[in-house]
Amino acid sequence: MILSETQFIIVTGGVTSSLGKGIVSASLAKLLQSGGYTATIQKLDPYINIDPGTLNPYEHGECYVTEDGAETDLDLGHYERFLDSYMSQANNVTTGRIYQSVIDKERRGDYLGKTVQIIPHITDEIKRRIKLLGRQNFDFVITEIGGTIGDIESLPFIEAVRQLKWESEHNFLVVHLTFVPYLAAAKEHKTKPTQNSVKQMLENGVQPDILVLRTEHPLTPEVKKKVANFCNVKLESVIEAMDARTIYQVPLLMHRERLDEVVLQKLKLPPGNHVNLDAWNAKVEKILNPEKSTTVALVGKYVELPDAYKSIIESLIHAGAANNCKVNVRYVHSERLENCNIAEALAGCNGIIVAPGFGHRGIEGKIEAVKFARENNVPFFGVCLGMQCAVIEFARNVLNLNDAHSTEMHPATPHPVIDLMQEQKNITALGGTMRLGAFACKLTKKTKVFDAYSTENISERHRHRYEFNNVYLDQFIKHGMVPTGINPDSKLIEIMEIPAHKWFVGVQFHPEYKSTLMNPHPLFQAFIKSTISE
Ligand code: GLN
Repeated sequence: MILSETQFIIVTGGVTSSLGKGIVSASLAKLLQSGGYTATIQKLDPYINIDPGTLNPYEHGECYVTEDGAETDLDLGHYERFLDSYMSQANNVTTGRIYQSVIDKERRGDYLGKTVQIIPHITDEIKRRIKLLGRQNFDFVITEIGGTIGDIESLPFIEAVRQLKWESEHNFLVVHLTFVPYLAAAKEHKTKPTQNSVKQMLENGVQPDILVLRTEHPLTPEVKKKVANFCNVKLESVIEAMDARTIYQVPLLMHRERLDEVVLQKLKLPPGNHVNLDAWNAKVEKILNPEKSTTVALVGKYVELPDAYKSIIESLIHAGAANNCKVNVRYVHSERLENCNIAEALAGCNGIIVAPGFGHRGIEGKIEAVKFARENNVPFFGVCLGMQCAVIEFARNVLNLNDAHSTEMHPATPHPVIDLMQEQKNITALGGTMRLGAFACKLTKKTKVFDAYSTENISERHRHRYEFNNVYLDQFIKHGMVPTGINPDSKLIEIMEIPAHKWFVGVQFHPEYKSTLMNPHPLFQAFIKSTISE
């Protein structure tokens, strides 16, 4: 930390959802970090679930897991991928968690005699959660408020922002992201939705300090001037956010628009060091203009909603950039895969990933995809459930253990090659009860995974209940599928490989949570490399 006091920046959104508040927040933090400051980002989600762990991916996309085992919003993945630093439970707070703390306090008698209300009790708890991160010695805490201004659910959050802004004279800033549509028929940008969005902020007592305008076409100076005039912000505080070809371009665009400079000016802070984005820029160049290309099948049951596999898709982009290669992802619906159509569905794929997941739907298609990869020597990467499918497929088709399965899908299987962990057997609640967060793993030398990591001791993040059943281990080893990564404490098997195959690796953990643009994950890099090598 170089500043004597933490600066708080709130990012809100208006007009529509999906404008990219998370990416703008991550980009701003990246720029401040490049200028020598320390920064972290927090997401406040206005829904009532305690965390997104129990949410169906169709509802909310991927659930991202942090080192400390918090099940969080997928935006935290972007924060880590941009900042190359770890987030934690404190970086994602939902309305549910806020209410839970307040209600717990009420039951303890902490408010004795008082009527517990949204203002001040809920808003105080929101303010406390925002300030809490400031105590961790960051120069900047950027807090992204989920949802869109005008939503009933976000009202208490905006009220908390109003109070914080009122209370802090100099170390607090509100950035509001809106959309400026272009009407092709009129050949004009329209600023009215932005004006209305700022009016809604004003109705709630919050004047944004900086406006970031998402647009599909460059804005003319007149449009910016109009927005500045109608929305009480300085012209230089109106920032254009053009659609980008890759999200990793956004920090470069925001820097060109001087977002970081304006933020520092507004907070009356020195300009910071020269922001050097050369290394980042070089990576972006590799994403935009790669020399090679490869096609990878991503086999899963949520493929109509790629947000469900956000971190895997980003990891493939990072690994592609590292290999100077464009990775085309073919989304293959596991529910539609059968023995008779698999060759057609996977034709032309240079590698196959079987995705993580829960429950029975689409499981047989995933197992078919593993079989295809194994029999045709196509590079295979199984992630969590994908690794479990590889084990089931091998048990059924190589070890001839008929009806081998995971007890998650088939509790009465005669061959439970994947089974519940002992400590999971008596747990009935679903929220936050899995094996979650970072665990150590020791790799075997002279294996594909050791080659990838170039080190013996690794740590990776987990999110699952079921495990490889060690009762069957000898049979697997004897027939050519071997454990190459083991948890040194619990002896649980974390990685299975087929050494005779070109590249066949199944991992019980989620490597995708630790890949960043500047530090692409070794396994994704090695997998992509194997798809482009002869
Ligand atoms: N459903 C499996 C388990 O609970 C795998 C979970 C996953 O892929 N994240 O073990």
